[in-house]
Parts: sequence; C-alpha cells; structure tokens
Amino acid sequence: MRRGIAAVGAVIAAGLVIERIRELHGHAASAPHVLPAMPEPTAYCLHCKASRRMDDPHSVVMKNGRPGTKGHCPVCGRGLASVASVAA
Ligand SMILES: [Zn+2]
Repeated sequence: MRRGIAAVGAVIAAGLVIERIRELHGHAASAPHVLPAMPEPTAYCLHCKASRRMDDPHSVVMKNGRPGTKGHCPVCGRGLASVASVAA
C-alpha cells in the first residue's frame, strides 16, 4: 500500500511540474509577433513633423541602390521612406 501512495504522490508532483512548464511556456509565448532582432521601422513624417512608426512597411531598393523601407504614416496616411542604416 505504501508503494501505491508513493506512486500517487509522484504522479501529482509530475503534474505540478507540467503545470509549471505550461505556465512558463504560456508566458514566453504571450508575444509571438515580437521579434527582438527586427525593430519597428520608423521614419520622419514631413506632414506630421514627427517620427512615426511605419504602417505596412516593406523593403525596397532606393534610387541610389541602397536598401530601404517604405510604408505609410499611421496618423496622416502619407508615404514614408527610410534608408536602411548599413553598418560600415
Ligand atoms: Zn504623418
């Protein structure tokens, strides 16, 4: 009988561990869309006279051949463009 009780205790302990792992996993997955390596593209909006986060950003190649990002101002809707900062 003692063995049976111990086994039940082990099952309960295992269940608690699984619950803890689920808790940790759920916490880590709470922000699945955030990619730390990719900061939100921003550009200076001439219309708002402020730096705005780009709406609908997409990569483009600028006239000078440099990679850049184009999007829209989320406030006034005007087009925004920024040249990607290339580390020399
Ligand atoms: Zn704007």
